[in-house]
Amino acid sequence: MPQYKIAIVGAGPAGYFAAMALQNLQNTELQFSIDMIERLPTPWGLVRSGVAPDHPKIKTVSKVFEKVANEENFRLFANVELGSDVTVEQLKEMYDAVVIATGTALGKKLGIPGEELAGSMSAATFVPWYNAHPDFKDESVDLSCETAVVIGAGNVAMDVARMLALEPAELDPTDTADHAITELKDSSVRTVILSARRGPEHAAFTSPELRELPKLEHTNVVMNKSDIQAAIVRAGDAPEKDVKNNLDAMLLIADKEPTTHARTMKFQFLATPIEIKGNGKVEEVVFQKTGIDETFSLKCGLVITAIGYEAASLEGIPYQKGKVVNNDGHVSENLYVVGWAKRGPSGVIGTNKSDAADVMKLLAENLGAPKNAGDVSDVIAHDKVVTQQHWQSINDAEIAAGEPLGKPRRKAVTRSELLKLGRL
Ligand code: NAP
Repeated sequence: MPQYKIAIVGAGPAGYFAAMALQNLQNTELQFSIDMIERLPTPWGLVRSGVAPDHPKIKTVSKVFEKVANEENFRLFANVELGSDVTVEQLKEMYDAVVIATGTALGKKLGIPGEELAGSMSAATFVPWYNAHPDFKDESVDLSCETAVVIGAGNVAMDVARMLALEPAELDPTDTADHAITELKDSSVRTVILSARRGPEHAAFTSPELRELPKLEHTNVVMNKSDIQAAIVRAGDAPEKDVKNNLDAMLLIADKEPTTHARTMKFQFLATPIEIKGNGKVEEVVFQKTGIDETFSLKCGLVITAIGYEAASLEGIPYQKGKVVNNDGHVSENLYVVGWAKRGPSGVIGTNKSDAADVMKLLAENLGAPKNAGDVSDVIAHDKVVTQQHWQSINDAEIAAGEPLGKPRRKAVTRSELLKLGRL
């Protein structure tokens, strides 16, 4: 029976759903052995370092990932980096197929003056900072100001604004990084303005996320009712279902009586940022009213842009417009791509399941005779690899450390701490 070796690079949702799809394709005539390569000492990608810590239910998908990982034909090679530890070319030579699932790690830029000032950062930095990603622990997030502006109208902007506007004690029973909880407790930020360049009818939020906002216990969430009413008129008699659901949810927010909470999260629509100003650090953002020749500015000390992501390029892989160049997931020869690296940063975690299944079906159809040409363990230093077993030690230790604190886990942050927990 032919046994094919497949390397999947990137242990995020897209990588695991690709592995699951391969496992599901197996039959008496087709068998796969799957090696998943991940540059961090921990797997799960955005489920660990992206999903907001106050949304623990979304993270339960990790149970699915662990089920995939515990199948006999799966091996984890974490703490192994594509480029420095092994190259794409080597993987292509050794494996029957290579699947890139490295996501889109870089935050898109506004491209306006002042964006590089201290106090201006991307959600691609802020989110992994509060989620204990080892590479972002030492980022400086200046929370000494009263007002922060978040630019973008998607769910990432909403996560970022909510994390800044929450009463930080609400994060105690979550797996937010310890350093972030400490800094958020010291934060002077009391007003967070979430700013969208288009109207409410065009916002990319999803309605469940909007509907949870009025339930925040310590934060006043403010939307201007006239903004929403105007959007309802513009959306017309038969808006798309998602648009209608969003506008209904926004009306509920706009109708809510203001509270006396110390913290406020306020939505601003139809405002295009044109400049960030400040002497050495952010002091204000200048906006143009979208479609109108009129500007206004907001004083603030922190600007976080959440306007989408693009893939960081890896040698040996073609990129265009922030994605890997591909044809339905096929890149070239025996190279494939899945997830956000393939389609760009859109959809929820589950979107990757059907997407990866389609690409893995194509991969299986294109297979020739098995190569039997070695695998990644032939070219890397074995003592650095975080295997599934090591990861289970890290996972168990984090969960155990969280338990007395009422947290789902207490995350280790640095690579050395993680490797120690993995007993490496
Ligand atoms: P997104 O949903 O694509 O939203 C990006 C936002 O940025 C849009 O509002 C867009 O406005 C705005 N934008 C883009 N370029 C801009 C510019 N130059 N100036 C001002 N605004 C600009 O992206 P995302 O928020 O990063 O989320 C990525 C994906 O992850 C989405 O599918 C999202 O639903 C998902 N996600 C889901 C959850 C959840 O389920 N809880 C949480 C986080 C993320 P325009 O429409 O005007 O371009």
